[in-house]
Amino acid sequence: MADYVDDIDRAQARDLKINAIEVSTAVARIRTAAQAEGCDDCEGCGDLITEARRRAVPSARRCAPCQAVLERRAYLGKGA
Ligand SMILES: [Zn+2]
Repeated sequence: MADYVDDIDRAQARDLKINAIEVSTAVARIRTAAQAEGCDDCEGCGDLITEARRRAVPSARRCAPCQAVLERRAYLGKGA
């Protein structure tokens, strides 16, 4: 009886592991797709990214002001 229960436990543990792998794979796939498509809301401030910006930069993940701040920081980080 104990062996039978152990088998069930192992099978459930294995199923849970498989489910976790499937979920993380799906999340990674969605994240990749979202990055390729860009997004509606800015990652920096949460405001809506303007349609003009999304049209100009389809993969944009930040609004123009947030992107400018980010690029400025990166520039200053390199230069200083
Ligand atoms: Zn923003």
